[in-house]
Amino acid sequence: MTDRIKLLPDVLANQIAAGEVVQRPASVVKELMENAIDAGADNISLILKDGGKLLISVIDNGMGMSPMDARMSFERHATSKLSSVNDLFAIQTMGFRGEALASIAAVAQVEMVTKRAEDEVANRLVIEGNKIITQEAAQAPVGTRITVRNLFYNIPARRTFLKSNDVEKKHAYEEFNRLALAHPEIRFQLIHNDETIHHLEAATLKSRVVSVFRNDISKRLLQVEEVTDKLKIHGLVGTPEQARKTRGDQYLFVNNRFIKSALLNHAIVSAFDKIISSDTFPFYVLFLELDPSSIDVNVHPTKQEIKFDDEHMIYNYLKSAVKHTLSFNLVAPAIDFEKDAQLASAWQNTERSPFVPQHEGGSRPKENYRIPGDFYKENVGRWKDLYENINIDTGHSSQPNQSMVFNSSLNEIDTPAEEENVHAGKYIQLHKSYIIFQVKSGLMIVDQQSAHHRVLFERFYSKTSEAAVFTQTDLFPTEIVLDVIKSDILKSVLNKIIYVGFDIEHTSHNSFIIHGYPSFLEEGTDLATWFDSIIDTVQSEVELDIDFHQIMATTYADNNAVKRGQELKNREMQDMVDQLFACNEPAFDSRGNRCFGIYSLNEIENFLKFK
Ligand code: ADP
Ligand code: MG
Repeated sequence: MTDRIKLLPDVLANQIAAGEVVQRPASVVKELMENAIDAGADNISLILKDGGKLLISVIDNGMGMSPMDARMSFERHATSKLSSVNDLFAIQTMGFRGEALASIAAVAQVEMVTKRAEDEVANRLVIEGNKIITQEAAQAPVGTRITVRNLFYNIPARRTFLKSNDVEKKHAYEEFNRLALAHPEIRFQLIHNDETIHHLEAATLKSRVVSVFRNDISKRLLQVEEVTDKLKIHGLVGTPEQARKTRGDQYLFVNNRFIKSALLNHAIVSAFDKIISSDTFPFYVLFLELDPSSIDVNVHPTKQEIKFDDEHMIYNYLKSAVKHTLSFNLVAPAIDFEKDAQLASAWQNTERSPFVPQHEGGSRPKENYRIPGDFYKENVGRWKDLYENINIDTGHSSQPNQSMVFNSSLNEIDTPAEEENVHAGKYIQLHKSYIIFQVKSGLMIVDQQSAHHRVLFERFYSKTSEAAVFTQTDLFPTEIVLDVIKSDILKSVLNKIIYVGFDIEHTSHNSFIIHGYPSFLEEGTDLATWFDSIIDTVQSEVELDIDFHQIMATTYADNNAVKRGQELKNREMQDMVDQLFACNEPAFDSRGNRCFGIYSLNEIENFLKFK
C-alpha cells in the first residue's frame, strides 16, 4: 500500500472552520477513538488514568500507518480522508480536518506505535510540543496505539482549568459511550486506573445499549424503525416508565455521528407528550440516516452540531416515527417483539411513510384522476395478527373508497337480512358511545367518536397527499363572508387549500366562493363551518410543529366524526372498527385522545376475584 496522507490545499484549509479541538481529556478520547474507527478497527481499547489527565491511550487493530504517514499524521491539516472541496459535502468518515493529532501533540506528550499488515516491524514515535523526538522501529501487533500523557503540561493555565478527575472521567466515559453505541459491531474496552469499566463484545444495538447502561433496561426498550426514500430512522426509545427526572441518556446520531440538536430533541420528546410528565426526560438512542449532501457537518469544530437543509421535515419525521412506536406499544404492552418475530416484522417492514408533509402550497392540475384504493389495506397486516376477531378480509364489503355514512337515527329503512350475515351480535354499543367486542386477549373497547375521528383524519390526509386530487364542481357554490382578520388568515393559506383540491376564489375584500371540493368528501359537507374552524385553529396555533395539512385534516375530522350519543348499527360498528385498524396510527386520534383500549382476560379475572 502506498502512503495515504496528503496536505490539504490552503483554500480548503481555510474553508474549514477553525477551532479548538482539544478542550479536555474527553476531546482527546473522541478524536483518538474516531481515528481508530476510521482506520477500520474492530477491536478498540481505551485506557485512562486520573480521568484522562495523566494518561489517555487508545489501542486499535486497524490498518496502521506507514513510517512516513506516521510522521505526517502530526502535521496540521494532514489527512488521508479528504482531498477536495467537494469531498467536504459527502463526508462519511468521522474525522476529516486533519487537525486532531497536530492539536493534541501541541499540548501533550504523545507516543505512537503503529504497524501495517504488510510491514515487518512497527514504528514508534515520540512527539513533544509538536516536535518528533524519537522515531524508531519497534515490536507491536498490526494496528495503532496512541498514548497521550499530561494533557496541557506546557500550558499551566489550561491545566488548572481542568475539573476534578471524577468530572473529567465522566466526560471521557460519555464520549466512549457515544462511540460504543454508534458502533455495536466493534468490540470496545474501557479501563480506568487499572479497573475494567466496560468490556463490550460485538453485539446488536439492543444488547449494546443494555451493556453500556447496565441497569435493567432491556425490558423497557421499544424499537423504532421507519424507512422513506429520503430518510431512515432506527433505534430504541425507553418506555414512559423509563423516563427520568434528570436529562441524561438521550443519544441522537445522524449518519452515525453523535449530534446535539435542541430542535430534534424537542421532536423526540414531544412524541412523549401527555404520556410522560413534563418534568421527566425520556431515554432514547436513535439513528437518523439521510443523504450526506443534505447536511453540513462542518458547522462546529467539535462536529457535534450540524445543519440540515430541511429541519422542519426531519422534525416531523422523527416525531411521528417515535409516536408510531409509542402508540403501537402502549396499546399492546403484552407483546414481546423478540418472541413474536412475525408480528415484529409485520410492523417493521411496512414501508409506510409517516405523516410528513411532502409538499408545499401551489395549485395542481384539475383533471380526473383515479385515486388508488389500497390505502386502507396496506397497513392491515400488523394489526390483524393482534386482534384476530377483527375481520379485515380483502373480500370484506367495507371498501376503502366507500365512505362511511352514519345515519342510523335518520334512516329508518332497515335491511335485517344484510345486518345478520355480518357477524351479527359481535359488536355491542355501550351507552351509544363505545363499541365493545371480544378479541384474542380479552375485551376491546373502542371510543366511537375518536375512532371515527382518526379514520377521517387519515383519509383526508392521505387522499390530499396524493399526486393529484380530483375536484368535484359544486352546482351551488358556497359563499363565505368573513371579518377582516379572518379573511386575511384565509388569504394567507389559500394556496394550500387549493392544493388539496378546493376550487376557491377570493371574490372581494372579505368574501370567498368555493366552487368545488376534493371529490372524496361527502356531498353536503358543511364547508363554511369547516373553514371557520380551520381559520380558528390557524389563529390560535402557536406550536411550531403543526402543519397546515394536519390542521385541515383535524378540523375536518372534528366536524364530521360521529359523536358520542349517536346510535350505530352492527354493520356500522364493524365498518368503523375495520377502518380504524387499517389506519396508520389507530391508537390515538389527532387530538391525542385514545381510540381504544383492551381489558385483558387477566385484568378481568383479577377484577372479579374474591378478595
Ligand atoms: P483526521 O482524522 O481529521 O484525518 P487526524 O489528525 O485525526 O486527522 O489524523 C490524521 C491522519 O492520521 C488521519 O487522516 C489518518 O490517516 C492517520 N491516522 C490517525 N490515527 C490513525 C489510526 N489510529 N490508524 C490509522 N491511521 C491513523
Ligand atoms: Mg481524526
